[in-house]
Order: sequence, then C-alpha cells, then structure tokens
Amino acid sequence: MTLSIEKHPCFNDRSRHTFGRIHLPVAPKCNIQCNYCNRKFDCLNENRPGVTSRVLSPHQALHYLDRALELSPNIAVVGIAGPGDPFANPEDTMETLRLVRQKYPDMLLCVATNGLNVLPYIGELAELDVSHVTLTINAVNPEIGAEIYAWIRHRKKVYRDVNAARLLLDNQLEALKKLKEHGVTTKINSIIIPGINDRHVVDVAETVSKLGAGIFNALPYYKTEETVFENIPEPHPELVKAIQKNTAQYLPQMKHCARCRADAIGIIGQENSDEIMKQLQEAAQ
Ligand code: SF4
Ligand code: SF4
Repeated sequence: MTLSIEKHPCFNDRSRHTFGRIHLPVAPKCNIQCNYCNRKFDCLNENRPGVTSRVLSPHQALHYLDRALELSPNIAVVGIAGPGDPFANPEDTMETLRLVRQKYPDMLLCVATNGLNVLPYIGELAELDVSHVTLTINAVNPEIGAEIYAWIRHRKKVYRDVNAARLLLDNQLEALKKLKEHGVTTKINSIIIPGINDRHVVDVAETVSKLGAGIFNALPYYKTEETVFENIPEPHPELVKAIQKNTAQYLPQMKHCARCRADAIGIIGQENSDEIMKQLQEAAQ
C-alpha cells in the first residue's frame, strides 16, 4: 500500500493547494449537545442556514465517491465528519470506511469526531489504515467542559453537567493515547469560545501534546442562532492569533481550517461545484 500522509491537505499546509478531500455525509446523529451547535446545520462547520448536508447510506456514499473522483481526480483523502458524529453512527461509518478501503487501497482515510465513542473502533480503524483522526477537545477541566456541553449520551444513558464533561474528557484522552499506540496521526480541534475557554485552550494544547497529539487546530467559535451561546460574540482575530502563538509552544499548528461542510469536496476553501451538488443529490435518491 502506498499511502502518502504528506498528501493530506488538512494536516499538511504544503498539500492544501494541490490535493483535495471529500467528506462522505453518512453520519446524521450526534451523541452530545455542544452549546454552540444548532443541529439544523453541520457539525462544527458549515453553519449558513439552509445548507445542511444530505445524508447517504454507505453504498450510496461509495457510488458518490466513484463519480466525484471522475470529476475531481485530485482527491487524496476521504473523510467522514458528520453531519453529526461518525461514532454516534458507528455501523454506517465503519461500513463506509470498509467499502472505500476495499475499492481504493491507496486512498488516505480520515474521520473527525467528538471522541466520546471512538475508543471501541480504534483497532479496526488502524487495520483499515485510517491514517488521520481529528478529535475536538474544547476543555481538559470538567468544570469548564460543563459550561460547553449541555449533555452527553453514552451507552444509552444521558449525563449532564460536570459528570458529562468528565466522562467525555476521559474517553477523549483514552482515545488519544490508543490512537497514538496504533500509529494513527491525530489532530486536535479546540474551539475558542470567548469568556468560556479562551484562557484554557493553551492547557488543552499542553495536555494533548503529552499524550501524543500530532497537530493542533485552535479555531474561532462560530456564532449560531438558536443556541445557548447565541449571545457570545465571536473571538477577535487578534485573540485567535495570540492563542495560536501560545499553543504553538506545544504542538505544530493548523491555521488554514475552512470549517468545511460534511459533504465538502475538492480543494479546501473552494465551494462545492453545481455538478458535484447534482451528483450528491442523484446519489441520495
Ligand atoms: Fe453539534 Fe458536532 Fe457538537 Fe454534535 S459534536 S453537538 S454535531 S458540534
Ligand atoms: Fe480539513 Fe478543516 Fe475542512 Fe476538516 S474542516 S476538511 S480539517 S479544512
């Protein structure tokens, strides 16, 4: 197998203008509620009203990928990033990864998750040569986490407040260690929320660097209507820059994240073309 990690446009700044990525939207449900998230939109990312992703089954996703590769041959990475959380939908996520790996043995595979339920799947992710996993970790202090997460649902039980934040954090940190043991490169996303965790993101970077994280992405929180945080302003670009400078003492930084939608395709930062959107629609029928 000739997987070239250098080609990943999110993990490698030099690759981002040359190689593209595709997100396969096969994971609609989520197992936590972040106070900045309105489920009408995609996880973390594309927040403009009315642009929620269509959801595909694993076989529809493979068909869509076939067509997308004809239209965009520069795609080097296939990722699963929502529109909910990949491991709140583990059967469809893992089936999609198996199908893609079987048909495209040289393709880089990645997933982006909140980390609550990835742990049981890490062995198989490594067997499938999933080379990159993104974990979103917004706090390493459960008291701060309790301000960010309204609830989490784990093994059919709902948790709230500090208990929820602690359980989420324990699973995230265990997952990070296990991914490292299996040789999977990890990127940590940490969302800067003014007045909530803006002074704490540097502690997140320090903690995850000790556990083997590969790259850090401190990204500004995106103000979204109809959320608990809807009155919190977005962080000033100078604050974001200062935090990135501080966290750089612990880990290499990703600064070009474009908060792509769960069905993004092509070069980072470019909008999906009409032709791609048509293919996506056809695949979903
Ligand atoms: Fe929303 Fe993603 Fe948080 Fe789930 S993990 S609540 S989809 S931002
Ligand atoms: Fe890469 Fe960020 Fe887009 Fe994910 S959201 S594909 S990390 S640029």
